[in-house]
Amino acid sequence: MRIRRLEETVVRQIAAGEVVERPASAAKELVENSLDAAAGSLQVELEGGGAIKLRVADDGEGMTPDEMRLALERHTTSKLMWEEDLRHVRTLGFRGEALAAVCSVTRAELVSRARGEDEAYRMVVEGGAVTQEAPAARAVGTTVELSDLFFNVPARRKVLQAHSTEARHTLGMLRRLVLARPAVRWNVSSEGRNVLSVAPTDEPGRRLSQVYGADMTDQLLRGDMEEGGLSLVGFFGPPEIARATRGEQHLFLSGRPVRPGPLGSALYQPYARYLSRGRHPVWFLYLDVDPEVVDVNVHPRKEEVRFRAEGAMVDFVRRAATRALGGKSYPAADLGGYESVRESAGQAWRVADAGEVPTAGLSPRFTSAERSGWRVLGQLHGGYLVVETDDGVEIVDQHAAHERVLFERAEVDDEVPMQSFLVPVQIDVPFDRVEPLRQAIPQLCQVGVLLEEFGGNAFRLHGWPAPLAERQAALGFREPLLAAAELYLSGGEPPLRELWREVACTAAVKVGEELSPPEQEALVRQWKACREPARCPHGRPVSICLSRAELDRKVGR
Ligand code: ADP
Ligand code: MG
Repeated sequence: MRIRRLEETVVRQIAAGEVVERPASAAKELVENSLDAAAGSLQVELEGGGAIKLRVADDGEGMTPDEMRLALERHTTSKLMWEEDLRHVRTLGFRGEALAAVCSVTRAELVSRARGEDEAYRMVVEGGAVTQEAPAARAVGTTVELSDLFFNVPARRKVLQAHSTEARHTLGMLRRLVLARPAVRWNVSSEGRNVLSVAPTDEPGRRLSQVYGADMTDQLLRGDMEEGGLSLVGFFGPPEIARATRGEQHLFLSGRPVRPGPLGSALYQPYARYLSRGRHPVWFLYLDVDPEVVDVNVHPRKEEVRFRAEGAMVDFVRRAATRALGGKSYPAADLGGYESVRESAGQAWRVADAGEVPTAGLSPRFTSAERSGWRVLGQLHGGYLVVETDDGVEIVDQHAAHERVLFERAEVDDEVPMQSFLVPVQIDVPFDRVEPLRQAIPQLCQVGVLLEEFGGNAFRLHGWPAPLAERQAALGFREPLLAAAELYLSGGEPPLRELWREVACTAAVKVGEELSPPEQEALVRQWKACREPARCPHGRPVSICLSRAELDRKVGR
């Protein structure tokens, strides 16, 4: 075996393989460099999700021609000098390899003017080698434009996904950085269309509403806390806006978006008593820590970090969440919304036979027991219905039971009846969800969701599956729409059932929702009439039964 030293170009491409996985990762490196250069305003343009063209322009400190040349080499950085500095990293970049790596797998043009210089300088780089350079005109700051990503790495080029998929990744990555840096002005365009323009703000909450819309962010519960070198500005979604995925769980660590890791898992605990399984809470945590306590140098794309005192950190955030959630008692605190939900729920289950509605002096329990062999004894811990049956007792999960009821309603026939609205409902979605939702429109239509594009981030909803319309109107339409679009995109074309399951889950009564006795009874009756009452649409058991024989045995009778 002969051992050879690799050509520099090959070395660069191998290094690039780690850093530049797809257009989103190239975009991330360019944008991070702009933020590290103290840019106050950033402009990002994508074509083909960044695979055809990716342009990032900033008003940061800029580079002199010599600095540009150096920056293109491997292991060159202005951010670290000594090994010791690795323990105090405050910038997003520090490895000094990104620009070299990115430029080795694409055609790049850099134009930069350093603060204090009279003119800018332009360099054209192909596969890592400078092919042209000359003075140029530009305000202070830097523009980097990449075209034909992976033009010289066919293997990588082949595994690139459809442009719309790459765009979804790139815009999703940008959304995290946009949220992480409220003080920066952002302008983002994709395929020539402006998808985001936000003004700078020093209030993270304001940035959240710029991206998600006030109707969502107004519901967030604020949980700020400060303690021993840790400082948290936290926004916790109430249980009713929990999602089908973990996609809206964001941790910004001193301005750096990172995967939440163990901290994320720990946050399920304060939510546990309010959420059904398979639902994921929404939260945004702006956490500032002393750089000494985190190690950012554990992942080539810097997506993960390691905490030096993880236990204490996890405990700190968990307490903040508990406090924020505890500040709102469920379900009565949000009186307006709660009342209207109750009303529609009551209507949906109105018992057809007036004789079954409880009237003074006549307990409905006996009436139903005589007729159906069961009677509802009441609600347990705000989440379970206790039902006495002929041969024992049944404890029913109210959410799961209602999900099953709603789910089977859709299966009565394939044509889902749609209730159309007199006045369409406008729904604004975050900028990176616009395209996915647009693509899902035909699918949604099949399940009775009639949606229309309305320009920018806006859609107009004209109809909703009839059996669920009233209740969903009280809960809001945006979350199930986005969840359905996400399912559609993650699994190709999900059958109708998938979408319906999602809709049923968001519409079903939640744990913690108090039900009146007639509501309890109506729910149990409808559930017992289901074809497959044993399991909820996600496959989890709806109830547990204890037979009389078992009860007798347990007490040794
Ligand atoms: P790192 O960000 O880890 O330092 P990079 O390879 O990404 O490494 O960048 C190398 C250097 O190029 C940076 O340290 C910085 O000095 C300079 N640089 C890159 N992009 C910009 C920019 N947009 N504005 C100013 N300087 C930049
Ligand atoms: Mg960098």
